[in-house]
Amino acid sequence: MIKSNKLKSEQYEQNFADIRPPFEDSTAAKVEANRCLFCYDAPCIKGCPTHIDIPKFIKQIASDNVKGSAHTIFISNIMGAGCSKVCPVEKLCEGNCVYNLLEEEPIQIARLQQYSSMKALDENWKLFDRKSSVGKKVAIVGAGPAGLSCAHVLSREGIDITIFEKENKAGGLMTYGIAAYKVTPEFCENEANYISSLGGIEIKYNQELGKDFTLAQLKKEFDAVFLAFGVGETRQLNIPGEKLEGVVDAISFIYELRNKGFSSVPVGDKVAVIGMGMTAIDAATQSKRLGAKEVTLIYRRTQDEMPCTEYELDIAKLDGCEIIWLAAPVKIKGSGGKVKQLVCSKMKLGEPDASGRRSPVDTGETFTIDVDMVIKATGQAPYEKLIGKFKIENSNGKISINEDCSTNIKGVFAGGDAVNGGKEVVDAVEAGKNGAASILSYLGV
Ligand code: SF4
Repeated sequence: MIKSNKLKSEQYEQNFADIRPPFEDSTAAKVEANRCLFCYDAPCIKGCPTHIDIPKFIKQIASDNVKGSAHTIFISNIMGAGCSKVCPVEKLCEGNCVYNLLEEEPIQIARLQQYSSMKALDENWKLFDRKSSVGKKVAIVGAGPAGLSCAHVLSREGIDITIFEKENKAGGLMTYGIAAYKVTPEFCENEANYISSLGGIEIKYNQELGKDFTLAQLKKEFDAVFLAFGVGETRQLNIPGEKLEGVVDAISFIYELRNKGFSSVPVGDKVAVIGMGMTAIDAATQSKRLGAKEVTLIYRRTQDEMPCTEYELDIAKLDGCEIIWLAAPVKIKGSGGKVKQLVCSKMKLGEPDASGRRSPVDTGETFTIDVDMVIKATGQAPYEKLIGKFKIENSNGKISINEDCSTNIKGVFAGGDAVNGGKEVVDAVEAGKNGAASILSYLGV
C-alpha cells in the first residue's frame, strides 16, 4: 500500500545519513593527504571535468594550509563542496588515481575535497575579491550549477549579474533532484548563498522564462544572456496504465522528498523503478529507505550498458533493491484506478545504436510482476517547445552552441544540461566557466 510515515523518525535519520561522511578530524585528513604521490602530470586532474589541481590542494591539506586548499578547489570549481558529495568520483578523479594501477585503494580525493571546501562554507571564508563594477550587465537564466558557476566567474571580473530562477531556491537539480543522503536541502542553500556572497549577483526567484519574462526583454535590458535552464519533465513511457494512481516520475518523487521531509512522502510496498541512471538509483534506494518492502529496478539493457556507475549499483544492491536486466515495461495494470501489476517485455541485445550501446530488441515474451507503485526514471526531456518559441537553434530540443558557447542569437550564450541533455553537476560547472569566459571576451572585458 502506498502511504507516508512508514518508519520511526530515528530510522529515517539513520537511513538518510550522509553517505560520504567527512573525516573525523584533521589528523585523519592529513594522514590520507600524505598517502598522495603528488604525481607529475597527475591523471586525477585529467579525470576531473573542471580540472581541479588535485595534487596541489592535497599538498596544501598535508601542510595545514586548508584555506589555500579551498582556494585551489574553488578557483576551478566554485561548487567544489557539492561536487565532493555528489560526483561519481569512481569514474572521474578517483577512478584515474595511479593507486588503481598499483591495485591499491585510490586516494580519497572527494573526502579530502569535502574537508577543505566544507570548512570554507562553514566558516564563510572570503577567498575571492570582486573587481569594481565595469558597468556591464549579464542575465543568467537558471540558478543551477551552470548558472551559478558562470555568475561567480563573471562577477569576479566586475560584471553585474541577475539570475532568473523559476523555483524558489537555487541549486537546480542539485537542490531538487539528488538523493537526500548525498546532499541536504540546507547544504544546497548554504552553497548557493556562499557563491552569491561574493557580491554583484542578484537571484530573482519564481521567475520563469516564457512565462514571467521573454528572451527579447533580457536582450534589451542586458549586455549578454547565458541560458542555463537545464532540462525539463521526465520522459513518458507511453504505455497503457501510465495515468493510474501510483505512477510517479522520479524527479517529482525526489523533489517531494527533499521539500516535504521524509515522513511525509508516500511510498508503496512493492515499487518498480524504470531506468538505470543515477536518478533511477536515487529513487530506488530512497524508496527502500522510506520503508518500501520490495524495490525492483527494471532496465532494458544489461549491466554493461547501464548509465549509472558500479558504485551506484552497489548502493542499490546493498539497500536490497532487485534488478531485472533486459526488460522493458509494456503495460501497467490497475484495479480501482490504482497500480497493481507491471507487464514487461523480455529484451535481447541487438546492434549498437547512435549512443554506441547495443540496442534492446523485443523477444516477444512477457512477464508480470506485482507492484503498487511505479517510478519512471527514464531521463528528462529538453525544453523543446520553449527553445523553439524563441527560435533558438537546437537539436531535438538541446540548444546548439558554437565553440565559444554562443547560440544563433547574438549576445545569447548557453551551457549545461540545456545544451548536453543532462550530464553530471561537475560538467555543468565547467560549462558555466566556459560560458563566462566567452561572455567576457564578447563584452571585451
Ligand atoms: Fe595523488 Fe592519485 Fe592524483 Fe597521483 S593520481 S596526484 S596519487 S590523487
